Amino acid sequence: MKYANIIINISHEAVDRPFTYIIPEAMEQNICPGTKVMVPFGAGNKETMGYVMDILDYPRVPIARLKEISSVVLTQDASEGKLIELAAFIKEQYGSTMISALKTVLPIKKTYRTKKEAIAGRESVNDKSGSVAEEGADKNSGGVAAKLDSAVTNNIEESMAGSCAMGQSVSKEKVSADIPNSVGTSRIILNEQQQSIIEDFTKDYDSGVRKTYLIHGVTGSGKTEVYIEMIKRVVAMGRQAIVLIPEIGLTYQTELRFKRYFGDRVSVMNSTLAPGERYNHCERAKRGEIDVIIGPRSALFTPFLNIGLIVIDEEHENTYKNENMPRYHAKEVAEKLAQIHGASLVLGSATPSVESYFNAKAGVYKLYNLSKRAIGEQLAHTHIVDLRKELKDGNRSIFSRKLFELMEDRLQKGEQIMLFLNRRGYAGFVSCRACGEVIKCPHCDVSLAEHKSMGKMVCHYCGYEIPIPKNCPSCGSKYISSFKAGTEQIEAEVQKLFPGVKTLRMDADTTKRKGSFEKILSAFGKNEANVLIGTQMIVKGHDFPNVTLVGIIAADLSLGSGDFRASERTFQLLTQAAGRAGRANKSGEVVIQTYQPEQYGIVYAAKQDYEAFYEEEMVFRDISGYPPSREIMAVLVTDKNSDTAFLLSERLAMVAMKTSESANVIGPAKAGIGKINDTYRYVFYCKSSKKKVLIEIKDNMESYLENNKTGANVIFDFNPMSPY
Ligand code: ADP
Ligand code: ZN
Ligand code: ZN
Repeated sequence: MKYANIIINISHEAVDRPFTYIIPEAMEQNICPGTKVMVPFGAGNKETMGYVMDILDYPRVPIARLKEISSVVLTQDASEGKLIELAAFIKEQYGSTMISALKTVLPIKKTYRTKKEAIAGRESVNDKSGSVAEEGADKNSGGVAAKLDSAVTNNIEESMAGSCAMGQSVSKEKVSADIPNSVGTSRIILNEQQQSIIEDFTKDYDSGVRKTYLIHGVTGSGKTEVYIEMIKRVVAMGRQAIVLIPEIGLTYQTELRFKRYFGDRVSVMNSTLAPGERYNHCERAKRGEIDVIIGPRSALFTPFLNIGLIVIDEEHENTYKNENMPRYHAKEVAEKLAQIHGASLVLGSATPSVESYFNAKAGVYKLYNLSKRAIGEQLAHTHIVDLRKELKDGNRSIFSRKLFELMEDRLQKGEQIMLFLNRRGYAGFVSCRACGEVIKCPHCDVSLAEHKSMGKMVCHYCGYEIPIPKNCPSCGSKYISSFKAGTEQIEAEVQKLFPGVKTLRMDADTTKRKGSFEKILSAFGKNEANVLIGTQMIVKGHDFPNVTLVGIIAADLSLGSGDFRASERTFQLLTQAAGRAGRANKSGEVVIQTYQPEQYGIVYAAKQDYEAFYEEEMVFRDISGYPPSREIMAVLVTDKNSDTAFLLSERLAMVAMKTSESANVIGPAKAGIGKINDTYRYVFYCKSSKKKVLIEIKDNMESYLENNKTGANVIFDFNPMSPY
């Protein structure tokens, strides 16, 4: 006899746990995770709809008390079942409640309700018949999504809106004006390298092989053209494709290119659009009106019936990791989704994540290379400047002599410059030169950052802000000042050194408003400014043919963050930034300013030597036991009471140690930022060569928490992308 854990589809957070039912033998063949079923529920045995989460050989509760599943519901909407199966995977892999996993994958929310009401309203007007109106409303309320809807508080709706409610309307209007009529035609003839990738992929696909591919292709090598060609083939077979792009990576040009091939059969999700619009995408997908969706990680949850291909562009990007619970990585979820649908997964990057490259080398992924730029330009020439030497030679400016000299040259020629700083705001922190006091946030363990244009000091963690003080709050001295350059200071410096030069600045402050990001880029693209200054936002895949100089103000800022991915991140940022220079016929130059000119991430980025970087980085990962050498899970325990948090973290660490002798438990200790918003943070790490072991540890901690409620919050984070 087999048993099924079933989540009951009623609108109560309280039933956020599966109930176990007996699977009648006759149904065994028809039941798997995701299957919709009817079960007798509660004291009255009311027939209730539910979803199978997993199948068990042994139930955890006495068999005598179990009821049987009544029937299997044959659903019209197969996509829903597949998404439920995906939710079950997310719950199991990342440790979250089933409800929160369901909320992650299912399209819900406000628009749903409004739309339902609108339909009901309209029909009752037309038909003057209450019963028809009811029916209309009912039809639309089928499925977990609708039921969940009422269980969700406004609060959650808002956070959902931030993470996954997006739409296409704005960009669609903008694009439809410019799309050429010749949908489906192409002027591009793939080059030899691109062609051989397509041939090999097609051969695999046609013979039923489904796997994960990694395209390692330098910036501008034509990866996007390869994706489009692959998608065309899959779509021709009547299947659908999902293309993931980093949150802010989608350019207007890329959008146009997809529209050119797929016309209005492609839908673009934009992360800056109003809440609720995800619903419309989902409806169009369900009705079979679109073949391709392009969007950030939540585009994975588009309810397609038959996905044939998933593409993740710039697969190394951080934004593919969800930083809220459940902390899933889009790559892993995409792999599972591809498996559910019988699809293939294609990852692409100029600087693949060390983890993906490791998999490719081990033969888990198939590796494709695009080693040349498609239009045959040269890579930029790179200079590394030692900032220590600049200071020794008496140069106190934030620009080295080399960078200054090249800036002067470009401005004379009327060419454009990009200056890149891995940090936002005017300055890091403000301190007193008399007593050394650093101005800190009273609620968090961090210094406040100065934002000169707003005249404020702001906490980047909790939003606390105060006017910039004129005197030191501790000793009263007026000699308090900020250290380290921010984007605002660089802008001021450029204007001081090169009077009359037009600058644009792009960072978290200047892009807060909807549409401002695109506005700045398009102004720069139209040559309305000579210099674009920005944080990492400016290095992502934007093409400016007139940019012939890229200056990286302080390359080491991304090092030394206590993060095991620091070198990798530095290498990626610098390589991508360098790729911005000289993309048209003009050759480009890159100046990397740094205090650590011999750091391998910097050295190999300057040489654009991925392979050498990978080899050296793997030595470090092997020795120190970080992914991909070993799997790692961070456990973060937070509470308003420091002792409560610490004690619980100690207990959980004990649970971890007891679960497996092979796993390494490090900590607990106070987190890097020990307090945020008056909430104390303790963290420990578990390492193992087997993911399975870590998941078992997580499961045991979850049951421990269920039996020992303390009120403290616990977060599991597998292979974390940022330090705690
Ligand atoms: P990536 O995605 O690797 O950065 P793209 O696909 O955007 O590269 O290609 C870079 C540029 O080269 C684009 O303008 C694209 O249209 C062009 N391109 C790509 N492949 C070819 C080709 N086979 N022939 C001509 N132009 C190409
Ligand atoms: Zn002071
Ligand atoms: Zn704060």
